[in-house]
Amino acid sequence: MSRGLISAVHLVQHFLSESIQSGGTAVDATAGRGNDTLFLAGLVGPDGRVFSFDTQEKAIQDTRLLLEKAGLADRVTLVNAGHEDMENYVSGQVDTVIFNLGYLPGGDHSYTTRPETTERALESALHLLRPGGRVGLVIYTGHPGGAEECAAVESTAASLDGALFNVIKIAVLNRAASAPVVIVIEKAGV
Ligand code: SAH
Repeated sequence: MSRGLISAVHLVQHFLSESIQSGGTAVDATAGRGNDTLFLAGLVGPDGRVFSFDTQEKAIQDTRLLLEKAGLADRVTLVNAGHEDMENYVSGQVDTVIFNLGYLPGGDHSYTTRPETTERALESALHLLRPGGRVGLVIYTGHPGGAEECAAVESTAASLDGALFNVIKIAVLNRAASAPVVIVIEKAGV
């Protein structure tokens, strides 16, 4: 059965697409298999740039292959490092940052995202964002540490100054409590 409206990945892409300008800069904080990086690379256009992070070498390789197949590898900088260090690699203002947290299904679970580094990366993402830019997070709660990570992100997002940021949360109301949660944060100012 199609997840339709409640596909978290599509929901977050939908909300971020409006913030991406042709020629702009986008960040995929968790490359995984590369699907979000591919999505961002299409939207930034030939003069834009995507920075895509993953601590797992295999994820970087898979993402590179996906981009090469689509002929979009030249507009993406792949970074085999933690997203908590993104400001060492990305400068200037960015249109969007996407996080797909948790672990890669079928991959090495020792590379699961963690609350402390996710929080640091989120702070950097908010710092890099241009006015009107958006950060989107897909957060999973069903694995060990997932609920704590979700609580940390939610509490940070909820405490952001409402004059500076617009923050929404989308949760599925009629499914298991462990269904993914989507949070989108927009920097005010346009
Ligand atoms: N749970 C999602 C997939 C998440 S993939 C789903 O069900 O589809 C999360 C990715 O984040 C993995 O590829 C993992 O290697 C990567 N990752 C873990 N910690 C990271 C970090 N600190 N910086 C960047 N990437 C990280």
